[in-house]
Amino acid sequence: MIRINENFLSLKESYLFIEIAKRIRAYKEQHPDKQLIRMGIGDVTLPLAPVVVEAMKKGCDEMADKETFKGYEDSGRGYEFLRKSISGYYKSFGVEVDFDEILISDGAKSDCGNIVDIFGIDNTVLITDPAYPVYVDSNTMSGRKIIYANSNEENGFAAMPDDSICSDLIYLCSPNNPTGSVYTKEQLKIWVDYALKHKAVIIFDAAYEAFITDKSLPRSIFEIDGAKDCAIEICSLSKTAGFTGTRCGYTVIPKGLNAYTRNGDAVNIFKIWCRRQGSKFNGVSYPVQCGAAAVFTEEGQKQTKEGINYYMNNAKLIAKTCDELNIKYTGGINSPYIWLKCPNNMGSWEFFDYLLNEIQVVGTPGEGFGPNGAGWFRLTAFGSKENTEEAMKRLKKLLKKD
Ligand code: PLP
Repeated sequence: MIRINENFLSLKESYLFIEIAKRIRAYKEQHPDKQLIRMGIGDVTLPLAPVVVEAMKKGCDEMADKETFKGYEDSGRGYEFLRKSISGYYKSFGVEVDFDEILISDGAKSDCGNIVDIFGIDNTVLITDPAYPVYVDSNTMSGRKIIYANSNEENGFAAMPDDSICSDLIYLCSPNNPTGSVYTKEQLKIWVDYALKHKAVIIFDAAYEAFITDKSLPRSIFEIDGAKDCAIEICSLSKTAGFTGTRCGYTVIPKGLNAYTRNGDAVNIFKIWCRRQGSKFNGVSYPVQCGAAAVFTEEGQKQTKEGINYYMNNAKLIAKTCDELNIKYTGGINSPYIWLKCPNNMGSWEFFDYLLNEIQVVGTPGEGFGPNGAGWFRLTAFGSKENTEEAMKRLKKLLKKD
C-alpha cells in the first residue's frame, strides 16, 4: 500500500491567499460595480525591459537555426556568459564572487525550497517570524525541527540571534518580505558570527537586493567578513527585472563552504548541491538565460533600474501617506513592501475587511506570515502609479475621518 509522506499533513493550510481570494469573491458578488485596487500579492506589473526582450528573441532565433541550436546545457549550472555577467554585477557593488560559484536557477523559490534536500533531517532550523512561507513549508515537508527568531516592533522587524540557542540552518531575508526591513552590516555580522560559532549555514534570501538604494546597507551577505564560510545566497530576477513569469534566478555557494557528517567529516556543499541538481534539474532555457544576461549589461541595468524606480516611487507615496496618517511602518525606503501597524488596534483581518469594504483596497494581513504579523498589514508597491495614488487618496480620506 502506497503511503504518503505524513510530514505534508503537518503543513498549515495555504490559508492566507485562499482566504483573501474568498473574501474578495464574496465582496465582488455583492458589489459587482466596485473597482478593487489590489496591493496584496507581490507580483510585478511592468513588462520586461526592451533590451531583455531583444536578447530573448535573439536567443530564440539561435534555437531556430541548425548551426546555433542548443539542447541540454552540459554543466546544468547555467551558461558561462550569464554566470560571468552576474559575477561582474557583484563586482559593481564591491563583492568578489567567482562565476564558478554561481548557479543559475529557474527562480529563488525553487532553490530556497530545494536546498534543504542536501542537509540532514536532524538539523534544527531557525527562521525569523514573520517570514516568506517557503522556508517553513519546505522544512516542514522534510520533517525538521523549526525554531523561530522574533521580528517585532521592538527590534524594527529585524530579528537577531540568541547566542544561547543552537541552530544549524538559518534563513534570513533582507530586504525582507513581508516586513520591508533591511539588515545593516553590523547586524549581519552578528548573524555571521553566530553561524560560524555554531558551524551553521545561513540561507540568505536576497531576492530584493536591487531595491536597496542606501549605499551603507549590504546588498549581499558576502559583504560581511566570514560569510563565505557560512552562507549561501539566493537571488532572483523576478522583482529586479520583471521575471516572475519568465523564471530565472541564481544561487551563490562559496566553493569552500562545508557541512559535516555525523562523524564530523567535512563535506563540500557546492559539490553535493551540484550532484543533487544533476539528478533533479535540467537547467533554465537558453532564450531565458540570454534575456537574463541582458539585465546585467549597461543598458539592461539602466532599463531595469527605471522599473525599480517606478515601483519605489509608489513605495515612497505609500510611506508618505502612512507618515501623514501617523501610522507606524517599516520598509518602503529600500524595499517594495510597506509593513504597517493596523490603526486603532485593529487585527490584521479586521483591517483587511475594513479596507476592502470601505475603500476597495486589498492588502495582505500580516498574521498570514507568522504570529508576529498579528496586527500588521503588508502593502506592495508593485501596482501602477495611478492605482497607488488612488488607493492612497482613499486611505487618507478614510482614516482622517476616523
Ligand atoms: N524570496 C522571496 C523573499 C520572495 O518574496 C519571493 C517571491 O515573492 C521569492 C523568493 C521567489 O522568487 P522567484 O520568483 O524567483 O521564485
